[in-house]
Amino acid sequence: MTLTRTTCPYCGVGCGVLAAADGTIKGDPDHPANFGRLCSKGAALGETIDLDGRLLHPQINGVRANWDTALDMVAQRFSDAIAQHGPESVAFYASGQMLIEDYYVANKLMKGFIGAANIDTNSRLCMASSVAGHKRAFGTDTVPGTYEDLEQADLVVLVGSNLAWCHPVLHQRIAAAKQARPHMRIVNVDPRRTATTDLADVHLRIAPDGDVALFNGLLAYLAETGKLDKAYTENHVNGLDAALAAAQASDPADSGLNARELADFYALWANTPKVVTAYSQGVNQSVCGTDKVNAILNCHLATGRIGKAGMGPFSLTGQPNAMGGREVGGLANMLANHLEIGNEAHRSAVQSFWQSPTICTKPGLKAVDLFEACANGQIKALWVISTNPAVSLPDADGVAAAIANVPFVVTSDIMEKTDTNALADVLLPATGWGEKDGTVTNSERRISRQRAFLPAPAEARPDWKIISDVAKRMGFSGAFSYGSSADVFAEYVALDQAASAFPRDLDLSIFADADYAKMVPTQWPRNGARFFANGQYYHPDGKAQMVAVTSPVSLNSRFTLNTGRNRDQWHTMTRTGKSARLGAHLAEPYVEMNPVDAAALGALPGALIALQNSRGRVLMRALITPRVAQGALFAPMHWTRQRSTAGTVNSVMTPLTDPISGQPALKASAVTAEVFKAK
Ligand code: SF4
Repeated sequence: MTLTRTTCPYCGVGCGVLAAADGTIKGDPDHPANFGRLCSKGAALGETIDLDGRLLHPQINGVRANWDTALDMVAQRFSDAIAQHGPESVAFYASGQMLIEDYYVANKLMKGFIGAANIDTNSRLCMASSVAGHKRAFGTDTVPGTYEDLEQADLVVLVGSNLAWCHPVLHQRIAAAKQARPHMRIVNVDPRRTATTDLADVHLRIAPDGDVALFNGLLAYLAETGKLDKAYTENHVNGLDAALAAAQASDPADSGLNARELADFYALWANTPKVVTAYSQGVNQSVCGTDKVNAILNCHLATGRIGKAGMGPFSLTGQPNAMGGREVGGLANMLANHLEIGNEAHRSAVQSFWQSPTICTKPGLKAVDLFEACANGQIKALWVISTNPAVSLPDADGVAAAIANVPFVVTSDIMEKTDTNALADVLLPATGWGEKDGTVTNSERRISRQRAFLPAPAEARPDWKIISDVAKRMGFSGAFSYGSSADVFAEYVALDQAASAFPRDLDLSIFADADYAKMVPTQWPRNGARFFANGQYYHPDGKAQMVAVTSPVSLNSRFTLNTGRNRDQWHTMTRTGKSARLGAHLAEPYVEMNPVDAAALGALPGALIALQNSRGRVLMRALITPRVAQGALFAPMHWTRQRSTAGTVNSVMTPLTDPISGQPALKASAVTAEVFKAK
């Protein structure tokens, strides 16, 4: 049996996997992300590679079609829309599941050849606030930390992150480090008690969106107790005075924590130089996500606790290639290779390299806005690639209606029956994990290969090839004549070298001579290099920027619904839903509710609860638990309408977004809750 060295397709930890066609799955002992470990989802990958439910042939209006007919139709309908209504009338909605090569080609077609920037991605739901926060603070979207920093820290603060379920192997690494270094302390900042809390020394049950108040309070405390690094801020940081004034005007009690909890946490953070503050969706998915990120970054910049081993802020990406999507510019407000749409020299360099007829000149529509543009008739042709927005976006029923309103919709997917495919005119079968070749970047900027160990089933094709074939039919043949994913990656690296004169954090020169077939997991800019070690940042004066941030207004609702993930499911369950073993963990949709609230509603364990607001309604079983505070509810996001006749939770998530990043506030929606009574 031959084992193929590849990478897990689920979370942003990016674990190495040894896989074989008979379903054998092992952790790769040589991969620096996991050193042989796997979590429950990764270990069950072999149970998800059958062809049940797969989309195996192109379809037009539900009828099998051949590839040429389907590709001709997609190219023609996009070309027609552009000719009649302009380039802003078409859009791509992509995914952090796509490989770097897929993302690169889609981004090139939209931004360089169609000439608009209407390509956004479900990664907007994952880490857009971190991207925006990094750019404000550092001048670039740089994640400065590594997994080793989390192991070497004396204090790890996990904010809005259920690491134990959502980044399980990283959680295992931290748990092992804590065992080996008993003095290590872990603080878990989360409105819920989760599996991650079990590892923590301290749980800070913060109020929803109380993060800015918490970290502003920390900044004020650091100043008051003489813990600011004045030499560092004078030499390397702008904006301290304004950020500190905003912090001092902020009330730490707005965090929802009491004076004792705040004092203890502030003293611990202030007196532990080697601190990593790691955060994920509880920070990012908020109406003030970018401000939360900057509130955290401010504390690290003000103390110089960045750019050194075992300390720094660390944003954890959710998806396997969310980071790679950022690198290739797969977001509506970015150009390729960490270049800027708003910079004329950058645009010119990219256009010249691509030899493209045009280049986008302004940012495109971000995810929530993109579907609003579908609803209001602006978008005439929409291509959804490798994702299921009719379920995964907030106001899911409104999004489904918006997609139905678009005159021409095409999807590329591995599965046939999805809520979004049901609304499409053309379905294009894509190859899935184990069948396709390419690269992904994990949370610590490490690029690893995904390799095929299975044949492409029936007529399925890789996404980069499907997109290229449409581009050629739109008249852009020379620029999309790739023979393999290796060709695409080589061009991506060559573009980076062509742009080397522009100061950027991204540096792919380490890949210039890499053998794609034999490529080993490699961290950019160079294995072992540390960002900001010399105190140099990417703003024009070389300094970092602290940002004055203020707390948001609370939702003021009887119930606030928070959403998240289960340990054994991934997103809308298209793959993990195939494993009976994984399905046995938590088998049906549920809503966590505090016992006091349950008693007030007359809800017994397992009662059907109706959650409702102006956007929609969903039914779920009550899971009565003190893990959530009074007034707080939590529900997982995995169940689609096709898997649950009681609806999907995103139907009651309001489409509020962070005004800077455009990331939806999927952690807080005002709802009513009542015990369901059949009429
Ligand atoms: Fe896959 Fe993430 Fe689990 Fe690693 S931790 S095996 S990348 S799901």
